[in-house]
Amino acid sequence: MTDERTFVVVGGGLAGAKAVEALRDKGFGGRLVLFAGEDHLPYERPPLSKDYLKTGEGLDDAFVHDEDWYAAHDIDVRTGTVIASVDRDAREVVTAAGERTGWDRLLLATGSSPRHLDLPGADLDGVVSLRTIEDSNRLRGALKPQARVVLVGGGWIGLEVAAAAREAGATVTVLESLDLPLVRVLGPKVAQVFADLHREHGVDLRTGVQVEELVGEGGSVTGVRLADGSTVPADLVVVGIGAAPNTSLAADAGLDVDNGVVADAVGRTSDPDIFAVGDVANVEHPFLGRRVRVEHWANALNQPTLVASAMLDQPGPEAELPYFFTDQYDLGMEYHGLGSPDDEVVVRGDLAGREFVAFWLRDGVVTAGMNVNVWDVGDAVKGLIHSRSQVDRAQLADPDVPLEILT
Ligand code: NAP
Repeated sequence: MTDERTFVVVGGGLAGAKAVEALRDKGFGGRLVLFAGEDHLPYERPPLSKDYLKTGEGLDDAFVHDEDWYAAHDIDVRTGTVIASVDRDAREVVTAAGERTGWDRLLLATGSSPRHLDLPGADLDGVVSLRTIEDSNRLRGALKPQARVVLVGGGWIGLEVAAAAREAGATVTVLESLDLPLVRVLGPKVAQVFADLHREHGVDLRTGVQVEELVGEGGSVTGVRLADGSTVPADLVVVGIGAAPNTSLAADAGLDVDNGVVADAVGRTSDPDIFAVGDVANVEHPFLGRRVRVEHWANALNQPTLVASAMLDQPGPEAELPYFFTDQYDLGMEYHGLGSPDDEVVVRGDLAGREFVAFWLRDGVVTAGMNVNVWDVGDAVKGLIHSRSQVDRAQLADPDVPLEILT
């Protein structure tokens, strides 16, 4: 039986691409249109602040699928096409040029955008953010020996770019408003590991500082002025102060928006025929028992299968636990779960030697685990979190006790 319906996906990032893939895998035989605002086919972003930033190589591997794949799966991909509005009465999306496409079900995979620094001088040349292939290319061109690179924000972008910049021989300063980088995610004990890592690699990491102004000459940035009156000289300023969900389409269409597009556990928004996925979706997470909006790569990779199932009124898989990873210098890390910075932390292994697994515990139950330069423990860490069991802290800290027996 042919399916007369049209499904439209707005957003050409990883989540949008995985959604169209899952819809076809699950047997959707109707018309499928994917609108991508960028001029590229959908790609994965992690390499942009890691290997691709450092080497300029491997971009082909970052594309989710090539052109032939979309054609073979009869997916109408419109790159370079920004959707300006969603007309819920007519059940159409409208491009910036005014072209309308009807939908029976609509998926918003509009992602997030770098937050802008709302300070004087923020639009000087040489003040950049990192989100796209073009941003990464521009940045790589500027990461030269002796270049003075200042990172505003000691989050994932700030620290990954700092590592790439140091490896390129640049002079690197990281400006973080809190007492430690990543402290809001990891808490002080583990955040200190990242502070030490960067200082040992020659980064001038300044914490507890407030940026007041970006100063320049001839339209180009020359420094960052801090609240204490000092100025950090800069040839390049990378702003990594977080991302904001791209909710304006949803909000203008009258959907519920609150820290992202509000959706149930399968991504259904306040309109039963409109779904949200990826960075932009603030979804109920049955295991965590609350709403979460996850901006990391793995969420964009996995969540679309669940949401595509719901779009087809099929049962879907359970939501995965949040997961992310980073590579900085010789440190590789994976994090599973969702800890809180004020959770108790138990460490198994060598914290100072940066070879350990850290666990976050709330009331004796593991909420998250992070392996640093230790591998193949992901399933055991997830098993511990899913078990919700009270763990023996001494056993948890003892590398000789298999994690599997603690559940
Ligand atoms: P982020 O990880 O949220 O970190 C932003 C950091 O900037 C926070 O520490 C924040 O502190 C700080 N900050 C905010 N305003 C500031 C200001 N005015 N001056 C100095 N510091 C300031 O965001 P991001 O690094 O910009 O990354 C953007 C997005 O990409 C995020 O969603 C991130 O998760 C994702 N990403 C992930 C990875 C990975 O998973 N490995 C890598 C790259 C990017 P407060 O906490 O006080 O606001």
